Amino acid sequence: MGEIMEKILASAVEEKNEKEYDVLIIGGGIAGEEAALDLAEMGFKVLLVEKEPSIGGHMFLLSKVFPTLDCASCISTPRMAAVAHHPNITLMTYSEVKEIEKRGEGDFRVKILKKPRFVEESLCTGCAQCESACPVIVPKEYDFGLRGRKAAYIPFDTAVPKIAVIDIDHCIFCGQCEIACPVGAINFLQKPKIIKVKVGAIIIATGYKLFPIGRKKEYMFGKLANVITSMQMDRLLAPTRPYNAVLRPFDGKEPMNIAFVLCAGSRDRTVGNPLCSQVCCMYSIKQAQLLMGALPLADITIYYMDIRAFGKGFEEFYQQAKDMGVIFIKGRVAKIEPAENGDVVVYYEDIENGGRLKKAVHDLVVLSVGLLPNPDIAKAFKNVKLELDEYGWIKPKDENTNPVETSIPGVFAAGCIVGPKDIPDTVVEAAAAAAHVAAYLKEVRG
Ligand SMILES: Cc1cc2nc3c(=O)[nH]c(=O)nc-3n(C[C@H](O)[C@H](O)[C@H](O)COP(=O)(O)OP(=O)(O)OC[C@H]3O[C@@H](n4cnc5c(N)ncnc54)[C@H](O)[C@@H]3O)c2cc1C
Ligand code: SF4
Ligand code: SF4
Repeated sequence: MGEIMEKILASAVEEKNEKEYDVLIIGGGIAGEEAALDLAEMGFKVLLVEKEPSIGGHMFLLSKVFPTLDCASCISTPRMAAVAHHPNITLMTYSEVKEIEKRGEGDFRVKILKKPRFVEESLCTGCAQCESACPVIVPKEYDFGLRGRKAAYIPFDTAVPKIAVIDIDHCIFCGQCEIACPVGAINFLQKPKIIKVKVGAIIIATGYKLFPIGRKKEYMFGKLANVITSMQMDRLLAPTRPYNAVLRPFDGKEPMNIAFVLCAGSRDRTVGNPLCSQVCCMYSIKQAQLLMGALPLADITIYYMDIRAFGKGFEEFYQQAKDMGVIFIKGRVAKIEPAENGDVVVYYEDIENGGRLKKAVHDLVVLSVGLLPNPDIAKAFKNVKLELDEYGWIKPKDENTNPVETSIPGVFAAGCIVGPKDIPDTVVEAAAAAAHVAAYLKEVRG
């Protein structure tokens, strides 16, 4: 968030009325969506708060999912629509929970900051005419900078809700969006609001953020155009992808010799993250298989320390990649350097051949980046403490027997905020958190 928006948010005015819901869910990724739908189906009134302009989280952005290779957005989109249309779910996007006070069991008082979109939600039809008219282009967050978006923009085609946003920090106030909007929805005078709610229970589903791989200087991310992250590769392979082909950023050429560097920012004390991110081995094998389909003549090499194929069908998925011709080299990549024509040299320790240091030239390198928690919400708790572990993941009441209850009775957690995990495990945890909320509310309400 830029300086202008920060100043605007500081002027937020508190609304007088307090609204009441049974459950507050914080985070609208697959964990939050699943928990919201489960609770809404049980008859509870749910408030789902998402900080971005659309729900969907990371799953919506993925290409396909391992090991079934089902289309990720085809699974996500109907769920996002179901959340938006369920009569028991109230959705607040572009909103942040600022304060949570526990007054007693089943009684939480919450303050939520509703950021201004500078677009009247009740008028906007999502026609995107403001976007077409806007002359300002900045990198698009949802495509991890692979292409641009306008300062007036719809987050993505199937955004929920499909309502435009004005990025006030980049707007040049030319007025073109106001002229283009057929329904007069643009409102530069829109103010931020603090909305007060009373809820009986809370589920935290704020998920993960990608490891900032620029911290691992030896991998030259941000310095070499043809060193990209695995999330950028998932975007390049997705049906909603930025270009209609897999192209390398340096010159738009189809890559023919692609390398994956596993454990980039995971299991690495030198960058402060000794943990395994659990999904990187499998999502890299998934991407390698998808690339074999998209670029049948390309060579694909995966540099790894160990392949952790622990889930159902994962070992077979790994074997399938080998059978398809993906090359697996056991060895940590020590450094990456530029070569000619935008190509990249990878220096690695070849463990299975005497541990010698070797080098190989590739025309595109994908860094399989790790996962870090999104724990900022812990700061919102005023009179009770949400316990986190030493790395910032939510610390469950009991790791073995009660992974979704937190240190605060009535506050539950689900998905990647509890620890890195894949989508099926996230969905199971969301269902468990919803069941625990139902039991808790029954107990405290009698
Ligand atoms: C490159 C890559 C590829 C992957 N591929 C696969 C795959 O093929 N198969 C698979 O099973 N898994 C895959 N995963 C893992 C998968 O992304 C996660 O399992 C899943 O997205 C976790 O969902 P979540 O809802 O817990 O978190 P998220 O998807 O991170 O959702 C969290 C949501 O909470 C919101 N939020 C965050 N903080 C706040 C706040 N303070 N207030 C309000 N809202 C907030 C976020 O904006 C987001 O919408 C992959 C991961 C990566 C990095
Ligand atoms: S006023 Fe701002 S958002 Fe609207 S068209 Fe101009 S630059 Fe884009
Ligand atoms: S603000 Fe106006 S022009 Fe932009 S999407 Fe909404 S209705 Fe269309």
